[in-house]
Amino acid sequence: MKQNIGISVTAPSTACTDRNCPFHGDVRVHGRQFVGKVISDKMTKTVTVQWERRKYWPKYERTEMLLSSVKAHNPPCVNAKTNQIVRIMETRPLSKTKNFAVVQIIGEHQAVHGEDMTVKKIEEKKGKETKKEVKKETKKDSEG
Ligand SMILES: [Zn+2]
Repeated sequence: MKQNIGISVTAPSTACTDRNCPFHGDVRVHGRQFVGKVISDKMTKTVTVQWERRKYWPKYERTEMLLSSVKAHNPPCVNAKTNQIVRIMETRPLSKTKNFAVVQIIGEHQAVHGEDMTVKKIEEKKGKETKKEVKKETKKDSEG
């Protein structure tokens, strides 16, 4: 078992026999690192991780919120579940669509339920719509 995989994360306390595990297998981690939320753990030894990124449009002086999501290998010793915040790191391609592995569980993401949340969501949507309208107007002005 590798205690040190090259980044400052503590190795999981339990061992596993997974060949594609960054701690107990043959796979090494390198390259890009992301922190995101697990949105699906339904596949065997695979989770889908999603995170937000911002793209700045200099012309409109606004940021666009974009969601990135990738599939990541979830070794049995880590065993990440839906709604957990995890750190993933790039590996060699493990399958057709999978070239990341979960290396650390950072914490739980608490989902909020209730009427207040729904109200907030509607407000957010309205805000986005008005933003789009503003964008269109500025575009027309600059074209004309
Ligand atoms: Zn393992």
